[in-house]
Amino acid sequence: RGPSAEELLAGLNDPQRAAVVHEGAPLLVVAGAGSGKTRVLTRRIAWLISERRAHPGSILAITFTNKAAAEMKERVEDLVGKRARIMWVSTFHSACVRILRKEVTTLDFGGVGFKSNFSIYDAADQKRLMTLVCNDLDLDPRRYQPGALLHWVSNQKNELRDPEDATKDARNHLEETYAAAYTTYQRRLREANALDFDDLIMFTVHLFQQFPEVRETYRRRFRHVLVDEYQDTNHAQYALIHQLCADAISDGGPMVDPEVERVEPAELMVVGDADQSIYAFRGANIRNILDFEQDFPNATSILLEQNYRSTQTILTAANSVIGHNKGRKEKRLWSDAGDGDRIVGYVADDEHDEARFVSGEIDKLTDEGRFRPGDVAVFYRTNAQSRVFEEVFIRLGMPYKVVGGVRFYERREIRDALAYLRLLVNPADQVSLRRILNTPKRGIGDRAVACVNALAERDRITFWEALRRAEDAPGLATRSLTQIQGFVALVEELQSMVDGGERPDVVLETTLARSGYLTALEESDDPQDETRLENLAELVAVAREFADDPVAGPSADPADVDAGTVAPGLGDFLERVALVADADQIPDDDPEDQGVVTLMTLHTAKGLEFPVVFLTGLEDGVFPHSRALGDQTELEEERRLAYVGVTRARERLFISRAVVRSAWGAPSHNPGSRFLDELPVDLVDWRRTEAAQTRWSRPDLSGGQHYGEPTAAGRRNFSAAAVRADAAARSKPSREIPSLDPGDRVLHDSFGLGTVVALEGAGDKAVASIDFGSEGVKRLLLRYAPVEKL
Ligand code: ATP
Ligand code: MG
Repeated sequence: RGPSAEELLAGLNDPQRAAVVHEGAPLLVVAGAGSGKTRVLTRRIAWLISERRAHPGSILAITFTNKAAAEMKERVEDLVGKRARIMWVSTFHSACVRILRKEVTTLDFGGVGFKSNFSIYDAADQKRLMTLVCNDLDLDPRRYQPGALLHWVSNQKNELRDPEDATKDARNHLEETYAAAYTTYQRRLREANALDFDDLIMFTVHLFQQFPEVRETYRRRFRHVLVDEYQDTNHAQYALIHQLCADAISDGGPMVDPEVERVEPAELMVVGDADQSIYAFRGANIRNILDFEQDFPNATSILLEQNYRSTQTILTAANSVIGHNKGRKEKRLWSDAGDGDRIVGYVADDEHDEARFVSGEIDKLTDEGRFRPGDVAVFYRTNAQSRVFEEVFIRLGMPYKVVGGVRFYERREIRDALAYLRLLVNPADQVSLRRILNTPKRGIGDRAVACVNALAERDRITFWEALRRAEDAPGLATRSLTQIQGFVALVEELQSMVDGGERPDVVLETTLARSGYLTALEESDDPQDETRLENLAELVAVAREFADDPVAGPSADPADVDAGTVAPGLGDFLERVALVADADQIPDDDPEDQGVVTLMTLHTAKGLEFPVVFLTGLEDGVFPHSRALGDQTELEEERRLAYVGVTRARERLFISRAVVRSAWGAPSHNPGSRFLDELPVDLVDWRRTEAAQTRWSRPDLSGGQHYGEPTAAGRRNFSAAAVRADAAARSKPSREIPSLDPGDRVLHDSFGLGTVVALEGAGDKAVASIDFGSEGVKRLLLRYAPVEKL
């Protein structure tokens, strides 16, 4: 015996109930954050099973993440019992994998079919494959990079355009080449019996278009389709839903076979909020939700307006920010949870001060007994920002976990960088040596390593010694020998820097630059590699801070540091990092079950809620991201992200910014986020104001000058680095840094001709954003970038 109808509708308001019991026509539930969309979708599934006697196997529910899917399934099981297990609650990708494992042998592309045990290629696999394609086609690697090609291919797939479509529509030589790469890439995937992530969706749609009888099988099976976070679907995902649920299917393909008996469309329910569309960079199309009523002509819409998550103060703040976006449907969210506490704002001296503020406030909240650490979330715009929070939290014993990202010191690029440094201090460190011997790729492959190993064993010497005497290694190819000798020379040169007592931060920067590590990341078009650059910039900042003042570092326990010791060297730095990295391993679960503070980026926070939220790094150039500053469309996406962030909070919201924030070890002075100006003044209780901050600015940061009363425009371009010439002088640039202005034309060794769009920082910390046309806009650290002013 299942739950009664009343039980299933308990705790729902009228429009929510209407959505749960709705029958027939496609249903769109549009509503602002926290209005119960996900709750309604979950209850509707239970209602379908329990009241409308739908077979659980006839239900397909789509969520945005696997975690959300697991939660939803659990919730439905709680309501209607174990039989709910066989329903499909999954992401688009998982659903398509299940369909394709069964059906892919049906698809026949030019006679070469797929087997149902196909592999799924991840980003790294794709990149390797595309590199092979570039070789096949003999493409000039300076003009055509695998990352850029893959991005283009991904867009094609999200638009459901196969290689033939792309070839047919190519309008110029560039597009013809891209289309050719797409064609070869697909052929190679097929030969490898592999699909990439975008293929999963595109192939399923093509399958349904080309084989109406297969489509009808699934239409017959899935009588109910429900989609959460509909605003973040792309065109291919939309088409898939359309194939399953539309009355008249019209989009392309050799169409409906009159022989095949048509099945009534499935009942469709989608829920979403156009104001929370934050994945345009992955092809999400906000129009899918705005055009729903056109796409499904007899659709019904239900609007939810009551928010059950947040206090009125938090909601008013959220409404006010999102109200600055143009061309959106105005909606007024309200809450009867009362006004609640005011928002607390804090202007920090720098990012450490910000992290200390956050942990101090969490301490207060938990001491009062009103909240537990598990009630608290700290949000930031980019992954790299977690590092300072992690260090401060570790030092203060605040239990935390980082969601949706690898902990800072476990990240690949950080481990690579530290492996280099360890090798410099201790050449016998085989693990580190082997880790970076061919990282970045420098043509020292497994064969070469085997030859060197053989020498080490024969002569009973260390691996490093064997590398130095590689000319004696039996069977080593001449090319490998040259590569190894180059590597040994590089390491020895860097070691002499260390022996000469060079500062850890300078050693680190030089190592990253000279090893080619930075260049490899800079030249990549993989968005992940941009994150890696940000993380390495963070690590340089850590080293610089340590070198400047080993006692004051955020992770330093003053008792550890012997006053009056000699200047800290690289060894001391590595020791410090090892300690932090080790403390980093503390398990997530707290013995007293108080939970742990959650650290995550704003993007991963979608759909979640927390009693207490800290929204940090509210600075122009950080959030909104520097990429979005000159672009209205991107700025609006950042603003939606801010809306998502604010609306995660149930009771308390804290907002903060840092006056000075380090990147690449150089403090840069960012003006407050424009989103702060969009909050109603009377809702925010500023603990420290902008004006006070100006007075308190420390003379050592401004090189003896005062910031004065900066104008908004002046602040925007201000960089503390500009007046910190000593920092620049200290790091001894290895080459002349070109002095550039926006508008200048430059030539880059790999990217070719470009135009300078923007500049940040100065001296050897100067970073230029340069538009290289089809290569896109790159942010390059001028000190290392091979650019020449024309
Ligand atoms: P988002 O847009 O952030 O995904 P949402 O619209 O999906 O939000 P839910 O997460 O479903 O909103 O609900 C927000 C909170 O409000 C949840 O804690 C949910 O349990 C609660 N809630 C929803 N509807 C009601 C209601 N009628 N009565 C009481 N609480 C409710
Ligand atoms: Mg939701």
